[in-house]
Amino acid sequence: MPLRPYIVGNWKMHGTRAMLSEARAIDRAAQRHMKVEVALAPPYTLIHPIHREAEQIMVGAQDCHHEEGGAHTGDISASMVADAGAKFVILGHSERRQNHGESDATVRAKAEAAFAAGLRVIMCVGETEDIREDGRALDHVKAQLKASLPESIEDAGERLTVAYEPVWAIGTGKTATPADIAEMHADIRALLVELLGEEHGREVRILYGGSVKPENAGEILSTPEVGGALVGGASLTADSFMGIALAA
Ligand code: PEP
Repeated sequence: MPLRPYIVGNWKMHGTRAMLSEARAIDRAAQRHMKVEVALAPPYTLIHPIHREAEQIMVGAQDCHHEEGGAHTGDISASMVADAGAKFVILGHSERRQNHGESDATVRAKAEAAFAAGLRVIMCVGETEDIREDGRALDHVKAQLKASLPESIEDAGERLTVAYEPVWAIGTGKTATPADIAEMHADIRALLVELLGEEHGREVRILYGGSVKPENAGEILSTPEVGGALVGGASLTADSFMGIALAA
């Protein structure tokens, strides 16, 4: 059975306890729109407070370290975010790859740790503008995905989600065309089937991310092979975020 559309908010480095009222409003709205799975990845500091109150939305983390514990000042392990109430973790976001020099191998090690801690993983992949202009977007994204995924993933259909996020579309107001999204998602789907087998490879949801807003969500979410959206800026208020969820 196909999983429900998945709408995930990435709050990035936004949000103090004053934002809990927005999370509550998102949770209340999600209770009225159960045909969509709504999730939020707030900063680490808000995972537990949101988890404690939320009745419907799933709470996740925006990253985790690949080791279980140790001398890693400022880092947080997968089991720690799970202990705080996270059910999933976003990995390989382009801001982590760019700002923290995360390689595919690092992202893969983090994914292994996350799955071992019982978390679901949203694996982000995407090309830069230069790569797209060079005509290498499809090959680049597939190579990135293959190198970032663990060798074997139990219950991959349920526990793995892929987010295609063109780097040039994140936070810029630009979005990929429906034709480009459809082409990329079809290629990602084919790769998932090759790597995970027919059954699991077809179940994994592939999200689109990059300047999704209530105004463009309907068109993006009805594009073939788009199983939901990863939303940054527009997830910061319940009105705009749930406007996107309603379009699914
Ligand atoms: C993101 O951070 O994953 C993202 C898609 O951001 P925005 O929606 O702001 O482009």
